[in-house]
Amino acid sequence: MNIVLFGPPGAGKGTQAKELAKHYNIPHISTGDILRANVREGTTLGMKAKEYMDKGELVPDEVLIGIIRDRLQMPDCNNGYILDGYPRTLPQAEALETILEEIGKLLDVVLNIEVPDAELIGRLSGRRMCSCGESYHLMFNHPLKEGTCDACGGKLYQRDDDREEVVRQRLEVYAAKTKPLIDYYDKKGLLVNIDGTGAVEDVFRQICNVLDSYRK
Ligand code: AMP
Repeated sequence: MNIVLFGPPGAGKGTQAKELAKHYNIPHISTGDILRANVREGTTLGMKAKEYMDKGELVPDEVLIGIIRDRLQMPDCNNGYILDGYPRTLPQAEALETILEEIGKLLDVVLNIEVPDAELIGRLSGRRMCSCGESYHLMFNHPLKEGTCDACGGKLYQRDDDREEVVRQRLEVYAAKTKPLIDYYDKKGLLVNIDGTGAVEDVFRQICNVLDSYRK
């Protein structure tokens, strides 16, 4: 399955993508995770990206297109992939189409996870992360021991861009630059809307029902 997980920041793309990757045994490719790894490692790319990420802005298209072109050609993508956080602009979507045509891995479906704006701010500002990849929420999914990851015992932290003022900017950027892609993929007949407001397991089941109908 070749999948794009689409939706605003806080819709649950990362959480769902992680479960889907395990369930269907295909890689979860999160451009946000790739950029954050570069920031942590202090690479040139990471230092450039951080300036945009801290402000809630998008990192320039050419940077992301290069990352995705390289990543999709790795052998673990041979049986499919889940893109999370890419594409976010029309030029990124057009570049993706060209890349996928070149490498023969066209998209099967774009899953658009829908969550009302009012809910997104609370979801993002209460989110806490661990460097092992687990994420928690102060209200909906708190760790057993405050500030500590259940999975690895690591110290939880808040992403710089999950602070409320940056969250608002990210949502504005989403509305202006990313949301128009819903129409783009709808016109191509690739879009399926998913109600992202329920429990994580319910959203996961909805998505699996859609994907299983594509595999038949
Ligand atoms: P995410 O983890 O997907 O919420 O991404 C975190 C931040 O990384 C975004 O707010 C952007 O600054 C940057 N980013 C991630 N993916 C992209 C993308 N496809 N295009 C531009 N910037 C991106």
